[in-house]
Amino acid sequence: MAPPRVRFAPSPTGYFHVGSARSALFNWFVARQSEDGVFILRIEDTDEDRNREEWVDGIISAMDWLGLHADEGPFRQSDNKVAHEVSVTTLLDAGYLYYCDCTGEDVAARKGDNKTPGYDGFCRTRALARAANTALRFTTPHDGVTIVRDLIRGDVEFANSTIDDFVVAKSSGAVLYALANVTDDRNDEITHVIRGEEHLSNAPKQMMLWSALNEVTAHDVALPLYAHLPLLVNEQRKKLSKRKDPVATESYRDQGYLPQAFVNYLALLGWSPRGDEEIVPVEILIEQFRLEDVSHSPAFFDVKKLAHMNGEYIRALSIDAFIDACTPWVNPWASAWRPSDRAPLWAEADFDAELFARVAPLVHERVATLGEVPAMVQFFFADAVTFDEAAFTKAIGNDPLGQSMLKSALVRFENATWASSVLHEVVLEVGESLGLVLRKAQAPIRCAVTGSLVGPPLFESLEILGRERTIERLRAALERLP
Ligand code: GLU
Repeated sequence: MAPPRVRFAPSPTGYFHVGSARSALFNWFVARQSEDGVFILRIEDTDEDRNREEWVDGIISAMDWLGLHADEGPFRQSDNKVAHEVSVTTLLDAGYLYYCDCTGEDVAARKGDNKTPGYDGFCRTRALARAANTALRFTTPHDGVTIVRDLIRGDVEFANSTIDDFVVAKSSGAVLYALANVTDDRNDEITHVIRGEEHLSNAPKQMMLWSALNEVTAHDVALPLYAHLPLLVNEQRKKLSKRKDPVATESYRDQGYLPQAFVNYLALLGWSPRGDEEIVPVEILIEQFRLEDVSHSPAFFDVKKLAHMNGEYIRALSIDAFIDACTPWVNPWASAWRPSDRAPLWAEADFDAELFARVAPLVHERVATLGEVPAMVQFFFADAVTFDEAAFTKAIGNDPLGQSMLKSALVRFENATWASSVLHEVVLEVGESLGLVLRKAQAPIRCAVTGSLVGPPLFESLEILGRERTIERLRAALERLP
């Protein structure tokens, strides 16, 4: 077997969809399984109305983030326009194509009540010459079948009679997806076309184009094997919606998912490694992955499971690696890359890397994404506490016992040895004297110091924050009362 040559060929028409990321990953797996495997990145940017340069950047940087580095490329399909035009001329000269000037309305009027989809072949025998309003169509056979050899679905048979004479080039001369894609795949000698299920119906047309080009050019390239990956669905088992579901890979990066967790999760969309363990290092995923084992049933894109998995990956980091990984969120000024969707919660001058190193162990075990870290540690860096007003009202504003707690703690904290275990004892005692269990006794203090009722372990946090700042905050909270 020749080494696999695979390609990922996204169209830059929007955010980098998680389904596309999964396609990229499965292609990359196949390439990485062979020593000489080649993974090509080809940006299919020929649809000028829908492409934007920022989407191209999004794809390239997200793939970089995921570690899916191309062996060849990134290429731009728009750079191959001459080759696409050569394909058109070659097929035209060989009699595979014909000019057609029908409008959609013409075709609909001819069909009347006949609901057969697609073009009716009207211009096939008209021998029209090229004109300003003529598209080029491919003459498909009426008889027989085209069998797509799909590694996931098995042989999928298409009756040729159901495949209409599709357009390969518009009247403007623009070569359409099916032929541009086949031209590039042939020129790149692609062995496996691995892509989303929505392209299955394109496969027989593309096979026809590929075979026709093989027949009439000196460049005979074996037809590729196909693998059409199952659809991704949401909790309602509906196709992921670009508008309603969180499908942008970029946004997972912004939220602080780890690339290794994201890759691991993507690998489970339609496939699973052997055994019960789902957290599997990428080397093992590569080793075990087989297109033949990919399921053809829709795969549930389960954001909760992804978050859970990410939490596991975060907890598996060493504390130093965790601190490093947090940089774009806590100290974006020192990071080459920063999340695009959030402003830092403190000023650059207020960030203290040494302090963060002390605080990091307190949050390391408590976050599912790195993006949760700033809000959890904000009270260490920001000058003033940002209060969750509902929490303040509940624990202090409307709670006389909470207020007493703060007042007594203020006095006791003045002279207590400043160590978390002592502070713990003090709060326990003061609480007991007021008839409060520890949880209730902690709440007003946590709220006064952090602004919230949830967060990192309180006494360790107070120890790090220091006596002066803690006392200042207890006072400030009491001063907020009417
Ligand atoms: N540009 C196409 C897409 O993004 C590529 C499909 C293919 O891989 O052939 O859907």
